[in-house]
Amino acid sequence: MSACLFCRIAAHEVPAQIVAETPELLAFTDINPQAPTHVLIIPKRHLGGVPDLTDEHAGLLAHVMRVATHVAQASGIAASGFRLVVNSGPDAGQSVAHVHWHLLGGRRMAWPPG
Ligand code: AMP
Ligand code: ZN
Repeated sequence: MSACLFCRIAAHEVPAQIVAETPELLAFTDINPQAPTHVLIIPKRHLGGVPDLTDEHAGLLAHVMRVATHVAQASGIAASGFRLVVNSGPDAGQSVAHVHWHLLGGRRMAWPPG
């Protein structure tokens, strides 16, 4: 059994509120939402973070954008707007070492982020 929490969620070993699933990706609601819509999009195969992504992952990255748009449309925030965030490393506050995109929306957001 994997020690990685998001690998375990991807394998359906740890429950999550799944909002979209494809053969490569899983999207599920963040357990500590920072906006009315806060969904995490993860690759099912373990990748630690942004520095682990290479040209080999170009298709996967495009797929993340398509799934993000699908989830935003299904959540009713595609027109009002949304933010996609990847935290990479300690200064950015990455707390789970399995790369993930935060999809946030449903409220006005500030810039720059804190
Ligand atoms: P980050 O801090 O960018 O690494 O984001 C990790 C995110 O995972 C945080 O927003 C947490 O609230 C979220 N999280 C941690 N454990 C779970 C879980 N079991 N189910 C859903 N989201 C989680
Ligand atoms: Zn993992």
